[in-house]
Amino acid sequence: MKNPYKEEQSFNYEFGGPIGAFLTVLSLPPLVLILTHFASIGRITTDIFEIKNDIFGEFNLQKTLYCSLALIVWFGFQVLLERFLPCDIVEGVLLENGKKLRYRLNGHLAFWVTFLIVLIGYPSVEYSSNHGLHVVEFKPLPLHFLYDYYADLALASICLCTILSIYLYCKSFAKNALLAKGGNSGKKIYDFFMGRELNPRSFNESFDWKEFCELRPGLIGWAVLNAAFTSVQKQKLGYISGSMILVNIFQGLYVWDALFQERAILTTMDITTDGFGFMLAFGDLCWVPFLYSLQARYLVDHDPNLGVLALASIIFVNFIGYSIFRGANSQKDAFRRDPEGENVKHLQFLQTKRGTRLLTSGYWGMARKINYTGDWIMALSWCLVCGFDSIVPYFYAIYFGILLIHRSERDDHMCHNKYGNDWIKYKKIVPYRFIPGVV
Ligand code: NDP
Repeated sequence: MKNPYKEEQSFNYEFGGPIGAFLTVLSLPPLVLILTHFASIGRITTDIFEIKNDIFGEFNLQKTLYCSLALIVWFGFQVLLERFLPCDIVEGVLLENGKKLRYRLNGHLAFWVTFLIVLIGYPSVEYSSNHGLHVVEFKPLPLHFLYDYYADLALASICLCTILSIYLYCKSFAKNALLAKGGNSGKKIYDFFMGRELNPRSFNESFDWKEFCELRPGLIGWAVLNAAFTSVQKQKLGYISGSMILVNIFQGLYVWDALFQERAILTTMDITTDGFGFMLAFGDLCWVPFLYSLQARYLVDHDPNLGVLALASIIFVNFIGYSIFRGANSQKDAFRRDPEGENVKHLQFLQTKRGTRLLTSGYWGMARKINYTGDWIMALSWCLVCGFDSIVPYFYAIYFGILLIHRSERDDHMCHNKYGNDWIKYKKIVPYRFIPGVV
């Protein structure tokens, strides 16, 4: 059988090549720190001294080490859940070397176990000669810590992501490592950024670093940060605002959905094509938890007190976004898994010379990246809950729009390489990218 993931293509630099990669590695970490500061003061400031004082004013090595330790414990806890909770073993897509990797999928269970602990706390254990080792009480987690040390944790996360990326880069030189096409240019900084090895693994090849980091510590960590900000808002105001409830539900649903549909990630570009380097490690473990939680962080001290009508309208916007996002992604995933499946067999498609089929009806007949549109509409609703007093919470919708446009161009380029003339034919049948009839 023809291997559809074996592609002939020449090397093309992305993200501005080695110079772009270098500048991105240098600029994104300070951007995270600056934005966490803006979210805490609720406005943008260009006063460099104020920013420096707030972020580094009380900086000391001990605090950063303490926060790094906290993050390592968190990461280790998620690894333990991945290792010891019951799991489904699922095969990924066919790789360039003709093999399929097996993945341990139990992210959904890990999500609920983590939240159970966030809700009921951790057990305090005591030893007595009568009862032996026993649980005395459940102590609440020190969630306030995440609010008090938000910027310090972000800084610690930047350091740890850099160390992890160096480790991954060195590991990629091991014998038999399957390299990602886009991360094997021979230019060190570029490959470090893009990720050289496609699927770095440990623990006798049973632990997949990329799949784990994509879904667990950062994504679940984001939801935990939101929960922490909610508890701090309750302590400060004496109640939880409507906006805070919505941001927790919306973003919690997004995180839960990603983990509930964990196997769908195995067919996404991140897993099938991109190497695991600084771009994904930093994105998954620092950018996502610390910047996607900006709205909840902002709401602790700057809640806009939105009325019922405003909140109801935002729920409606979110619902539209989620329906498109989930509907489109599930439809493609079901079709890729089994084109003759009950829910997708009625859909029209274009049979390609590469061997796979491209959907030309249903969600994917409306626009080629309708799933991105749904995702962006949801992103907008998360920002709207913060009202219009400041542009800071809207950073997410602005950045995410740029990311999705850029990502759609990357995917278009890759699909053109994969499918050749069939891709051109497909684009004629489905001419719109994001909004049917418009763009
Ligand atoms: P897609 O899920 O859109 O996958 C793209 C691939 O799908 C293509 O390479 C092609 O691969 C296949 N495909 C494209 N068109 C068709 C078609 N008509 N019929 C069947 N298969 C098709 O891309 P992503 O992995 O980028 O995104 C997945 C989701 O994750 C999106 O909803 C996105 O919004 C979200 N996302 C969220 C991010 C965040 O930070 N919150 C970041 C990135 C993505 P092939 O033909 O080889 O199968």
